[in-house]
Amino acid sequence: MGFIQMELARIDPSISTFFGVHAGLAMGSIYLGGSEEQKQKWLPPMISLEKIGCFGLTEPLVGSGTSAGMTTTAKREGDTWVLNGEKKWIGNAPWCDISIIWARDLDDNQVKGFIVENKTTPGFSVEKITDKMALKVVQNGHITLKDCRVPEANRLQQDVSFRDTARVLRVTRYAVAWMSTGCQMGAYEHALKYAQERLQFGKPIASFQMVQDLLAKMISNITACQCLVTRMAQLYEEGKLTDPHASVAKAFCTAKCRETVAWAREICGGNGISVDYGVGRFFADAEAFYTYEGTYQMQNLIIGKAITGLSAFV
Ligand SMILES: Cc1cc2nc3c(=O)[nH]c(=O)nc-3n(C[C@H](O)[C@H](O)[C@H](O)COP(=O)(O)OP(=O)(O)OC[C@H]3O[C@@H](n4cnc5c(N)ncnc54)[C@H](O)[C@@H]3O)c2cc1C
Repeated sequence: MGFIQMELARIDPSISTFFGVHAGLAMGSIYLGGSEEQKQKWLPPMISLEKIGCFGLTEPLVGSGTSAGMTTTAKREGDTWVLNGEKKWIGNAPWCDISIIWARDLDDNQVKGFIVENKTTPGFSVEKITDKMALKVVQNGHITLKDCRVPEANRLQQDVSFRDTARVLRVTRYAVAWMSTGCQMGAYEHALKYAQERLQFGKPIASFQMVQDLLAKMISNITACQCLVTRMAQLYEEGKLTDPHASVAKAFCTAKCRETVAWAREICGGNGISVDYGVGRFFADAEAFYTYEGTYQMQNLIIGKAITGLSAFV
């Protein structure tokens, strides 16, 4: 799966993000937190892409702090839950079929997950977020839930607290590390081709020592990230991938990605600013990788907590 994510992002980080939201976040939530019946009902049509999903965690006023400060609420009334609140930045939301909505239960104060059917649930509405500079193909939405009634049968039956939400994020954060490795590869390949074809002072710019220095640093970043994510895949296979491991992968690879795409853009000179020369898109998309699914700082705080035993954020 990691290699697929890397290859998708090598061509287009938006496509890898769409896939990550649908297959990783939405299907992953049902796979990890759903009952057998819920898995049987929802996963087959999602695998075949007949039904598309999204994952609603972030809110307009609460992003990094959702574990402790989520404001979207769920109130049980018999066999129904009433959801109220807002979710922001939700990938695929403007057009998908189902949303995994995370909300705080007013009775026990724990975060629970709900499968909301976008097109048939009264009180559920989505506004498309426009004028983004990154991941332009991904449709992000601002969801509003107003007395939105969801049957108990659509509550993720195995999830009891935010720890279960974090279980999903552990896998998808590590997937973002694969994607940001692929993003670097795409930018590097465009920049190398450009450097070989672009002539200055009568020679290809690839022949200049300082351009070679940038290319060498880019390939070194890519190699380091590929090695790291491959090791993480081995840990995952062995059932040993922890939250701090996933955070190391996400923080390191997205930071290296930012560096690599900036050097790729630099090699393309003025043309690097234009979206027509390939690298501009990777340059912008790297910013989204750096921030979504937990910012660089939040990943480092998770690592810091594991190192010191002291939490800087709870
Ligand atoms: C393109 C895109 C797609 C997205 N898709 C989804 C999606 O599908 N589903 C979803 O639920 N969310 C999605 N998000 C939201 C994303 O996960 C959040 O933007 C991210 O978690 C950060 O939250 P925030 O934007 O509210 O920033 P804030 O939490 O307000 O953070 C702002 C800045 O403050 C820093 N900061 C915050 N707290 C601390 C602290 N304790 N210590 C140090 N620094 C701190 C942050 O690192 C950051 O630099 C998406 C975002 C983008 C841009």
